[in-house]
Amino acid sequence: MKSFFTLMLVLFAFALSNAQEVQPSETSRSKAVSSVRQKEPQGPMRFNFAEQEAIVKKFTQSFDSLTPMQKNIFFTNVKHIMDPEVAKVEPGVIDSDPPSDAIILFNGKDLNEWEEVTWGIGGPGGKKPITWIIKDGGMQPAGTSGTAQTKRVFRDFQLHLEWKTPTGLPATVTGQDRGNSGVIIQGTYEVQILDSYANRTYRNGQAGAVYMQHAPLVNPSRKEGQWQTFEIIYTAPRFKDSATYFTPPRITVIYNGVLVQNNAIIQGPTVFPGIPQYIIREHGDGPIQLQQHGNPTAFRNIWIREL
Ligand code: MG
Repeated sequence: MKSFFTLMLVLFAFALSNAQEVQPSETSRSKAVSSVRQKEPQGPMRFNFAEQEAIVKKFTQSFDSLTPMQKNIFFTNVKHIMDPEVAKVEPGVIDSDPPSDAIILFNGKDLNEWEEVTWGIGGPGGKKPITWIIKDGGMQPAGTSGTAQTKRVFRDFQLHLEWKTPTGLPATVTGQDRGNSGVIIQGTYEVQILDSYANRTYRNGQAGAVYMQHAPLVNPSRKEGQWQTFEIIYTAPRFKDSATYFTPPRITVIYNGVLVQNNAIIQGPTVFPGIPQYIIREHGDGPIQLQQHGNPTAFRNIWIREL
């Protein structure tokens, strides 16, 4: 109905702009129109329903005679939108470099964007100054460090980061103990980081998993000690009320250039220990956390674009 109304408006505007094309001799009604015109050649412009009706009818018939392809072209032309112009962004020299509109969260030089989570019974409590260290261009937890988090909070975003699990772990260190970390989005939803090159664990807990919810589609892991990349595109949930999503959070993860989460629906907060209980808790914007899980997993080149 709306498109029909739009069509009529377009046709009507078109008709108005072509009003002079109507031939007085076509119908008796248009003869009357011609008569009115002759009587008021100098008068103010008046809206003549009969004339416009005839014009609309003519162009409606013309439109109806178009082929489907011609109609499609007509509507395509109507829908060309020029303004506002799409914002220009200068890309990095290589795709892993931050583009001009990115917020740099870590560039290897300082930890100014970061603080640290303190833990109480049952989860994160407060925050304190960051105690992570910078080593070989990466940031990593010191022995007694806690989980790092951004001082800023975010809603929808595109996040780039690179990470590296430690080398030299004995072969007896396996499963979830091998290089475990994670990107915890809005302090709530974890994308798992782990040495998953040759380290079998539960599929929904390996690198690139939405922890305990979605296994990665494939496993593109590199060996421990090599830098690996995550591109994360995240759409925050919208809440209907304190315990109900209007729309749940969604996440896409590209791991070492390979799609491993395809706009996956996150069902609820990551919980541990125990079986995930998808208890929805209303929250606002939140920080990006880098999990401290007892391993010196390092991070570098971290940037984010708010969407
Ligand atoms: Mg983890």
